[in-house]
Amino acid sequence: MHTNDKKHDWRLEHTYAKLPAVFFSAQAPMPVPKPELVCFNEGLAEALGLGFLKKDPESTANFLSGNQLPKGAQPLAQAYAGHQFGHFNRLGDGRAVLLGEQIDPLGNRIDIQLKGSGQTPYSRRGDGKATQYSMLREYLISEAMYHLGIPTTRSLAVVTTGEKVFREKPHDGAVLTRTAASHIRIGTFEYARNFCTIEELKALTNYTLERHYPDKKEAANPALELLKAVMHEHIDLVVDWMRVGFIHGVLNTDNMSITAETIDYGPCAFMNTYDRKTVFSSIDRQGRYAFGNQPPIVQWNVTVLANALLPLISENRDQAIALAQEVIDGFQYKFTERWYRMMFAKLGIAHPEDKDKKVVDTLLELMETHKADYTQVFLDLQQYEQPHGRFLNTEACKDWWKRWKETHTRGGGNKPDLSLMNTVNPKVIPRNHWVENVLETAIKGDMKPFNELLEILSTPYGEHPDELQFQQVPADFDAQYQTFCGT
Ligand code: AMP
Ligand code: MG
Repeated sequence: MHTNDKKHDWRLEHTYAKLPAVFFSAQAPMPVPKPELVCFNEGLAEALGLGFLKKDPESTANFLSGNQLPKGAQPLAQAYAGHQFGHFNRLGDGRAVLLGEQIDPLGNRIDIQLKGSGQTPYSRRGDGKATQYSMLREYLISEAMYHLGIPTTRSLAVVTTGEKVFREKPHDGAVLTRTAASHIRIGTFEYARNFCTIEELKALTNYTLERHYPDKKEAANPALELLKAVMHEHIDLVVDWMRVGFIHGVLNTDNMSITAETIDYGPCAFMNTYDRKTVFSSIDRQGRYAFGNQPPIVQWNVTVLANALLPLISENRDQAIALAQEVIDGFQYKFTERWYRMMFAKLGIAHPEDKDKKVVDTLLELMETHKADYTQVFLDLQQYEQPHGRFLNTEACKDWWKRWKETHTRGGGNKPDLSLMNTVNPKVIPRNHWVENVLETAIKGDMKPFNELLEILSTPYGEHPDELQFQQVPADFDAQYQTFCGT
């Protein structure tokens, strides 16, 4: 077999660093006393052309802690801004550095970033560090999202630093290696619009088009096309989150990637009991980022992007606003259409009709009233012959069951489209109590349960013999459960 070894090596390039200097600060990662590789993603490494790293964990720990720069690295912290809970702030990578863009064996360009690698000019009052607990949490959930088929940044490794990080009490510190199509955010555009020249905003826009939306480059109005494309990608993303019960938790504009990959796994969590108001984040007291509020928040964030792009959409401000408004006004329609399409698939409705929307709406109302488990109900429905499970057997579901059954007979069938259901209804999700259990054990030094869970979550649509055991949520666990930012 002919292999080309040159494709399996560090192949770092730096197109982002060719942007005007206002968009970043050169910043080396801070050395750490005792780097140790605790988690390494062999599959991702192989895909990146970095599979050779697994052979030498010691030197890999050096590279992926920032103690030693890989060949060709040019570390920098990116500048950005963002609306955090609705308030505009100047930000930037306060605890991360971009090493460069790895060119993988297929020729894709992937950002390699170290997160938790020390202070930068954008750290404000932060220490630039991260805890092992939260970096392992990001690793686990981002990989689970990837295997659920949802666009996301990924995690290549977690390296503990041998240093303590203080968050009320001392914790073990760690660095996560994050990969992404890029780390350009809606907040990067806000930064350009508010703190840079029009020329610099143009440079960022052209760069983004060239790198992520090359087919829009030659459009009559590229900035407007960029806005549309970003909005459509984000609609698909939020529909995917709603499909599996994912709550991002901190949907600030700096945490929305321009490529619509899920990014920034701080206070995220999965919903067990169906309730649109579900919130786990300790700081989200108003429920701004509650499960059911995610679609309008995504729309709000896209409006912020529109605002940043206005001068490039048209030199005539009124015209620019009118054009951008027209795009934003399309959000609701597009979202609703795609969301129902997704829900029809969850219900195995292969030939949906408009009246089936009521079937979806009624089911969700019933689930909310009866506190049904969002994941379990759709699995129970796959046993379509008789109502299966506690919820579907309630008296209140009787009518609904009949109406749902009627949707199967279209096209001459007598059952739901099971293969469709199988591709959209996960059998396993990262249940909060599992995630916490394996993390507690992992930070005490035993990675075995963590790795076992990771393995289970790598085939969410596959058969799992112990399935039921995973679905049971300890009573009251979620009621007490809190998640955190910046840990
Ligand atoms: P996040 O809530 O994780 O999206 O972070 C919001 C902003 O705070 C980003 O600019 C982060 O880089 C910064 N940040 C979060 N934690 C720290 C930290 N420990 N030290 C410095 N900056 C931080
Ligand atoms: Mg962030």
